[in-house]
Amino acid sequence: TSFAHFNFDEPLMHQIRKSEYTQPTPIQCQGVPIALSGRDMIGIAKTGSGKTAAFIWPMLVHIMDQKELEEGEGPIAVIVCPTRELCQQIHAECKRFGKVYGLRSVAVYGGGSMWEQAKALQEGAEIVVCTPGRLIDHVKKKATSLQRVTYLVFDEADRMFDMGFEYQVRSIASHVRPDRQTGRGKSWNDVPAGTGLRSDTRLIRKSRT
Ligand code: AMP
Repeated sequence: TSFAHFNFDEPLMHQIRKSEYTQPTPIQCQGVPIALSGRDMIGIAKTGSGKTAAFIWPMLVHIMDQKELEEGEGPIAVIVCPTRELCQQIHAECKRFGKVYGLRSVAVYGGGSMWEQAKALQEGAEIVVCTPGRLIDHVKKKATSLQRVTYLVFDEADRMFDMGFEYQVRSIASHVRPDRQTGRGKSWNDVPAGTGLRSDTRLIRKSRT
């Protein structure tokens, strides 16, 4: 597979070339076409495999499709991850690729200023990258709403469960409309040998019509 197989438009391809990526990584080759098709997906790949871009590029395509259909408030895409550091890294990637379409990303995580994050959310963003508890705090305070979310990613979902965020993760999933597209990432390191979870990408169900 080469980048040409993804049929990304020129602005996105230009940014990918600028990043000096010469070819897609295995998780990108397998995951990008599935995410672009609108299916739910579980991707398993270790850190450094390029899995962040594998869910960010299809997310951008999805947002640009949705934006024409739907006006409204609140993010179209939400990426939930376990730590502040990961949140900041993913947010940086979202900004780097999202800027080619003028898309805005906001990062909200525990330990950061509630007030500043709420202000950023209210200024508006198509993408929110968050840790689970902090997102829920902002939704409760009505700093943002999940009503427009149709692309939902749980990055390092297994680690969030290990860290005791299961309740928050389930709560976020239940507050998002049922016709959303969902991706869950698992870090390869945490997959025990011999569980049968060793393929890079597993398809669980079709959701978008
Ligand atoms: P990740 O696994 O998402 O943490 O990505 C690890 C690193 O790989 C990041 O610094 C990305 O910028 C980089 N990367 C992502 N996709 C590619 C690619 N197709 N070719 C080369 N590097 C990439």
